Amino acid sequence: MAKEKNMRRRAFVKLLGTAAVTLPFIGVFKNARAQEKLSLADPMAQSIKYVEDATKVDPATRGGDDRFCHNCMQYTGDPKADFGPCNIFGGKLVASAGWCMSWVKKP
Ligand code: SF4
Repeated sequence: MAKEKNMRRRAFVKLLGTAAVTLPFIGVFKNARAQEKLSLADPMAQSIKYVEDATKVDPATRGGDDRFCHNCMQYTGDPKADFGPCNIFGGKLVASAGWCMSWVKKP
């Protein structure tokens, strides 16, 4: 009986060890997927005219020359970084100097 209990305890400790080693990697892979850069060929990106350099789009089309991803409500990254996550694209990275038709002023 004591031997069986000891074996169960060992199996439990082994399971905890495996989880402690495995779980952090799952987080890394999940994060890596979310940090994927948005492709300009993405059909949704094209449908809302996403560009990585907003200055190449006529300000009249953009609704002003001060509209960039870095000051858009959907941009959740560091405004000074080159790229940051966008909520519209499921957290994929967009250029902070970019723009698209879904731009909304960051409050
Ligand atoms: Fe950039 Fe905002 Fe468009 Fe996302 S929704 S691509 S942050 S302008």
